[in-house]
Amino acid sequence: MLIVKKFGGTSVANKERIFNVAKRCIEDYKKGHDVVVVLSAMGDTTDELLSLANDINPNAPKRELDMLLTTGEQTSVALMAMAMNALDVPAVSLNAFQVMMHSTSKYGNSRFKRVDTERIRHELDSRKIVIVTGFQAVNKYDDYTTLGRGGSDTTAVALAAVLHADLCEIFTDVDGVYTADPRIVKDARKLSQITYDEMLELASHGAKVLHNRSVEMAKKYRVPLVVRSSLNNNEGTVVKEGAKMEKMLISGVTADKNIARISVIGIKDRPGTAFRIFNTLSKNKINIDIILQSIGREGTKDITFTVSQDDLKETLDVLEREKEDLTIQEIKYDEDVAKISIVGAGMMTNPGVAATMFESLYNCGININMISTSEIRITVLIRENDAEKAVIAVHDGFGLAD
Ligand code: ASP
Ligand code: MG
Repeated sequence: MLIVKKFGGTSVANKERIFNVAKRCIEDYKKGHDVVVVLSAMGDTTDELLSLANDINPNAPKRELDMLLTTGEQTSVALMAMAMNALDVPAVSLNAFQVMMHSTSKYGNSRFKRVDTERIRHELDSRKIVIVTGFQAVNKYDDYTTLGRGGSDTTAVALAAVLHADLCEIFTDVDGVYTADPRIVKDARKLSQITYDEMLELASHGAKVLHNRSVEMAKKYRVPLVVRSSLNNNEGTVVKEGAKMEKMLISGVTADKNIARISVIGIKDRPGTAFRIFNTLSKNKINIDIILQSIGREGTKDITFTVSQDDLKETLDVLEREKEDLTIQEIKYDEDVAKISIVGAGMMTNPGVAATMFESLYNCGININMISTSEIRITVLIRENDAEKAVIAVHDGFGLAD
């Protein structure tokens, strides 16, 4: 078998854990499998590097940030190769240049375009464990790019896809995918299986267990994916097509606090205004989430929408710049909001799911600001302060507890 194993920052945070990971990989290697290991930077390295940069220049060029951040993963892969070597197992560390992992040109949030397999194949053929830097790629200018926070998952899935791996294991500090964040909901339950689509909705709406693009890619290339703990041998959660949902209506509840709400007030109530506003934002590569348009009054209307908090400043800048053209009278924003989402393939065929969610929130006096839905997801916007309470109440309301 060819197995891709990805370990996150906490799993390689110190010497003891590095050796623990090395031994787990060596076990598979000694069974005769080909083993490719993808690593994140050790512990909080990426955050520390970011704060170093911020100290020197809060407006550092994105290219230089990527140049800096990629050192984190380069450190962990080299140390891992040394650890395996100390355990008498042949291993080689490779960075994005050595593998040739090509990405789009954008710094800080690039996407893979093509990933070469020749070098990795060559090293596997000489019976080495191959250890690859997560999170980084190379663009057409031969510069390093990074894939966005948490992007090492996507590196692992991309490698699993191009190498046609038999299994892609994502090792993290939790046992798998839970019905809610176990740090917030004490009796959250571990799912044994989940579909790609559900996982994608969860990952895109606040569940931090997998990078959402990794799930997108796993679905596209049908990569057999497992999320499990690096600290024990528990089974973990299998992510796949058409997973059996244990008769559950809902697979999970998430909270996302990293969002902001923006209102554009008093825009002209005529065809094309919404188009022009969202077209302008889309041209600036700003992702919009929930949208709400008010009923018009005296020839004007208001539109409210949410964006990731990371995009807030840029969104406000763009709107301010185009204010007159877009006929906006006033721009308001609010950062103290959170999104609570429930996800489940079961809601397609079961009426009343939304009502159950709203009732749970009503029972604990939480006000809903905005609502959005997909086929398998319902999201509400609430005050950020209420986020934990809401997750617990909704989790309870659907009887998801263990
Ligand atoms: N080290 C990067 C981060 O902290 C990438 C990753 O861990 O997946 O975001
Ligand atoms: Mg992660």
